[in-house]
Amino acid sequence: MKDRYDIIVVGGGPAGSTAARVAAENGASVLLLEKDREIGVPVRCAEAVGEKGIKKVVELRDEWIANKIEAIRLVAPNGSVVKVSHEDVGFVLDRKKFDYDLAEMAAIAGAEVVTKAYVYDLLKENGYIAGVRVKHLGEDFEIRAKVVLGADGVESRVGRWAGLKTSLNLKDIETCAQMTVTNLNIERQYCDFYFTDKGAPGGYLWVFPKNENTANIGLGISGNNGFKKTSLEYLKDFINEKFPEASVLTTVAGGVPCAPYMEKMVTNGLMLVGDAAHQANPISGGGIVLGMLAAKIAGRVAAEAVKANDVSENKLSEYQKEWDKVGGTGHRRAYRLKEAIYKFSDEDFDNIAESISKKPKEKHTIVNIFKTALIKHPKLIPDMLKVFMG
Ligand SMILES: Cc1cc2nc3c(=O)[nH]c(=O)nc-3n(C[C@H](O)[C@H](O)[C@H](O)COP(=O)(O)OP(=O)(O)OC[C@H]3O[C@@H](n4cnc5c(N)ncnc54)[C@H](O)[C@@H]3O)c2cc1C
Repeated sequence: MKDRYDIIVVGGGPAGSTAARVAAENGASVLLLEKDREIGVPVRCAEAVGEKGIKKVVELRDEWIANKIEAIRLVAPNGSVVKVSHEDVGFVLDRKKFDYDLAEMAAIAGAEVVTKAYVYDLLKENGYIAGVRVKHLGEDFEIRAKVVLGADGVESRVGRWAGLKTSLNLKDIETCAQMTVTNLNIERQYCDFYFTDKGAPGGYLWVFPKNENTANIGLGISGNNGFKKTSLEYLKDFINEKFPEASVLTTVAGGVPCAPYMEKMVTNGLMLVGDAAHQANPISGGGIVLGMLAAKIAGRVAAEAVKANDVSENKLSEYQKEWDKVGGTGHRRAYRLKEAIYKFSDEDFDNIAESISKKPKEKHTIVNIFKTALIKHPKLIPDMLKVFMG
């Protein structure tokens, strides 16, 4: 490590590695710091992405795809299943390989990648963030940068240290538990979503197959619902009931920000991206593609700001303005929808599934499902149409 760079990126997840790569491609000297000893480990993710989305942010490699998904199915509390007609296929990724390769791509583009590097504070100078304090292999370093890019995930502290309002309401953090389980006999072409207020209050359960024997099975519940049972207890109950034969390969827990749009993600010399900037989709909790989409903008704007010798909040907020057009407006609408749909009871979910099942199969689209779900909230239908139809 040198003692000075144009840009320091904190966090080697998909958002951090993408921002580092793009900043380096745009001519900046870049340092990427990751606290874990290996990029991509542990995997705290169900690993699902849509094909259209992922292709917008990176050239897809076959070795990143664990399984190709042809359709999603929604399962109501009474067990009725709605197969959703949707033209976009999806993938269950091998995220360990994916994250690792994204960091490698950043390094090949010229960024210096350092693991076992725990950033514990920011340097500040004349009202600007001016670098980081980092512990690496037992030694403390002060490293200066014109821009610090915080991509340090849902538990981000970089933003807070810089004085940005990063705190989340309990109800806007999905607390997730997931097991990768095997010894199953499942249809690998379907990702299943179980909506049930009793089994996953304020969230949903998922079964995302990696192949016909193995799947990521998990759930997220909204943070203010974790008092009766923990997310892990809900998950164990679900797996014992639905897949009693399953053998557990791994268990992970983690949070996802399913939160309102973050009004300010930049300040003098600092930008936030990915989960650190609460960019995950508030309804699904999916944050890989959205974080990378924002990171592409952030990496470029940061490099341009360095070139222009202007890293003021005003200049860096070009990133936020661009992000607002690409993802921000959709995020606001999706959050309003989330507020409505995660209040449904099991009876509501059963009724929605029943109404949809009566329609011809080609009408089992996401838009029609939401239209049915929002029948009592007609004011939200225009938001929903914009979220799902652009
Ligand atoms: C159980 C679960 C299932 C999920 N399933 C999906 C899914 O199917 N599809 C989807 O799109 N999204 C999913 N998500 C969300 C997705 O994982 C995140 O949105 C995505 O990882 C965000 O990427 P990121 O780069 O912003 O942050 P992260 O991937 O969290 O990366 C942040 C990195 O920063 C590092 N770091 C943190 N603090 C420091 C520090 N002080 N110094 C140095 N390094 C630091 C961390 O070690 C980490 O590597 C899921 C999340 C969970 C918890």
